[in-house]
Amino acid sequence: MPLTIYNTLSRSKEEFHPIDPDLVRMYVCGPTVYGHMHIGHAKSYVSFDIVRRWLMHRYGQEGVLYVMNITDVGHLVGDGEEGEDKVEAQARRENRSPYEIAAYYEESFWDDMKDLNSLMPDRIPHATDFIRQQIKMTEELIAKGVAYESNGSVYFDVNAYQQQEKAEGMIPYGGLSNRKVEDQTGGERIEANPEKKNPQDFALWKRADEIHFMQWYSPWGWGYPGWHLECSVMSSFYLGKTFDIHGGGIENQFPHHECEIAQSQAVNDAPFVRYWMHHNMVNVSGQKMGKSLGNASNVKELIAEVGAMALRFFIAQSHYRSPLEYDPDAIVAAGSGFERLRGTITRLREVIGSDLETRVAGIDANPEVKEVFDKFSAAMDDDFNTPVAIGYLFEGVSNLNKLLAANSQDRSLLEAYNSLFTIAFEQVLGMDFSAEDGRGGALADDLMRLIIDLRANARETKDFATADQIRDALKDAGVVLEDGKDGTRWGMTSS
Ligand SMILES: [Zn+2]
Repeated sequence: MPLTIYNTLSRSKEEFHPIDPDLVRMYVCGPTVYGHMHIGHAKSYVSFDIVRRWLMHRYGQEGVLYVMNITDVGHLVGDGEEGEDKVEAQARRENRSPYEIAAYYEESFWDDMKDLNSLMPDRIPHATDFIRQQIKMTEELIAKGVAYESNGSVYFDVNAYQQQEKAEGMIPYGGLSNRKVEDQTGGERIEANPEKKNPQDFALWKRADEIHFMQWYSPWGWGYPGWHLECSVMSSFYLGKTFDIHGGGIENQFPHHECEIAQSQAVNDAPFVRYWMHHNMVNVSGQKMGKSLGNASNVKELIAEVGAMALRFFIAQSHYRSPLEYDPDAIVAAGSGFERLRGTITRLREVIGSDLETRVAGIDANPEVKEVFDKFSAAMDDDFNTPVAIGYLFEGVSNLNKLLAANSQDRSLLEAYNSLFTIAFEQVLGMDFSAEDGRGGALADDLMRLIIDLRANARETKDFATADQIRDALKDAGVVLEDGKDGTRWGMTSS
């Protein structure tokens, strides 16, 4: 079955075929590093991490080249052209240089990404490392007649671009977000900028005044690049003029991605991207922040409170194109679901040993496991439909719980389940069963060891009333104890 991807360009699901059958080239717009990661970022980068992992499953470990940039030159608050530079504004607030701000918040970003078990991108270009190339591209656009200098700044001439002859597959400005040029203002909300020929023109290079900290010398004097230019330059540097997948937030379709397309196509005379993927946003409106979660849209605080895997599982349980309703209770519930799952996997691995390789062959030889795996794969192939895919996996979890409860000795079947869950949960969905989470993991295990020891002591002193009381209280809390010849094991019931 082919992989299908919802392509924003056609507003429909299309079969995915990479330009190079052995290498999928993918670019995702990274963060502007002037603050800590919030839950909207987490949805974005966890969603695309899962997309990438499924592509790696299909095309091999070396079959995906994943590039994500770091925007360490502040773009401007007013949609990129007017207002205040976000990085410089934060630098003033913290009394630090913009370079320190960018370095500090970038490190914070990668710390959170690591906690969320997201794979590092293959390439991580920084805007400040590509200033020379951005100036060069601006010069090329002027030479092609689709950009002009005005008072030390350079603007992209949208009208000239629209009239330019386009090779097959190239799209006009507005073609991604389905807007007419007349409706577009280049993101400008305030009065018309007299430097521009037309309001829809957008900045490639901005003249810097003296107080602007980050500025570079260019053929047009001291200045800094416009918001959109870096992604055009850095994506093509690593992935070529035309590449397979470009990802980003739905709010960046316009103007950011329209501008990227126009710049890249005008300079390269070739289509820019074949599949545009846009994730939806996290909805926090009307949300009362739960007291126990504090300012919980901050990812660090959320991770400390509920655990990184709870947050990851919460995100994975919604589709990337659906809006995600921020709900602290649902995140906690996702964490409990993950802990029950972890309990089952831990028990399975105690039974069969944990150093097994994952063998797809083992899955194929066991029809009940293969059926789950096939349904999971079909859902992932259907535009990365993770909520449906996870639903199928839980059918498998429920089957497995029955086998474990019945002390099944069918080693081939148990190993097949282990392969299935290793591939699906760990490799593809990126769930880390060894992660130490806020509500479970190592702490839960330590506490359970303590309780199990207390119960064993009670039984040794023939205090069966206390021993039974402990067992019953745990049962009410959803914890089951199993006495075996090498001691007592514990797990969560799978309700
Ligand atoms: Zn971008």
